[in-house]
Amino acid sequence: SIVYLNGDYLPLAEASVSVMDRGFLFGDGIYEVIPVYAGQLFRLPQHLRRLNRSLSEILIDKSYLPEDLEEVSANLLSKNNVQNASLYWQVTRGQSSQRDHRFPSNTEVTCFATVNPLPSAAQQPDATGRKVISVEDVRWQRCDIKAITLLANCMARQQAENQRADEAIMVRDGFAIEGSASNLFMVQQGCLVTAPESHWILGGITRELILEIAREKGLRVSERLFTLDDLLQADEVWISSSMREIQPVVSVDGQAIGNGQAGPMWHQITEYYMAYKQKLYNG
Ligand code: PMP
Repeated sequence: SIVYLNGDYLPLAEASVSVMDRGFLFGDGIYEVIPVYAGQLFRLPQHLRRLNRSLSEILIDKSYLPEDLEEVSANLLSKNNVQNASLYWQVTRGQSSQRDHRFPSNTEVTCFATVNPLPSAAQQPDATGRKVISVEDVRWQRCDIKAITLLANCMARQQAENQRADEAIMVRDGFAIEGSASNLFMVQQGCLVTAPESHWILGGITRELILEIAREKGLRVSERLFTLDDLLQADEVWISSSMREIQPVVSVDGQAIGNGQAGPMWHQITEYYMAYKQKLYNG
């Protein structure tokens, strides 16, 4: 495939960065994943807003960014001739001559983008029940920044994999807050509940869209913390992300949720979500 690196478009095998890059040495960078359906960047303004926020939170001056991200995104899609894809952006604090924790004063950022093909956008919603496990959240206190430093997330996800589960739910101070790479929802007495935005979670673009749709359709919604115990007692549990979209969870730590199948509110919200996507492609 063709990737973008610091102003150039080149084959993946020819794209390389220095071992002195701060992304490699310190995990000093941020990223973004944007779904592309029918050639259109899905929720692009929201993704760009989050990318800019991540950059400014870690004090990377975005005036160093070499080009218009939207234009580069479009170029990458056409060079790879893909209609449905996930677009990955990564920006690091660049390379310096020595390994030094202090930010270098005049480094150019490293800016990388790649596309990975996805199956067609017209996919039917997947009601397959997912299994999750709970793990202690050992991440730092700025999970709202989409940092490339993901060791704790990778360890949690691998733990889920080892237990034949689809995702690991992070539990902090007893609260079930989000997945290793997804946001978390539960339905309790007809109310859709998800953790509020804070430094403890990533403000997911899919999470935001689910809340937007739910409110528009007049569903009861609450953004508040809830415990692992609440989750185990919930009528429905879902996880969401740009790649997973909205997935029903049917077991947590081996305990069945509801009747062990995707619930009625999941079916309802998924229908609205699919209609929202459809509207975009049809103009
Ligand atoms: N939380 C975490 C920790 C994530 O890594 C992700 C996916 N990047 C999400 C939530 C979901 O965010 P989005 O809906 O924007 O993909």
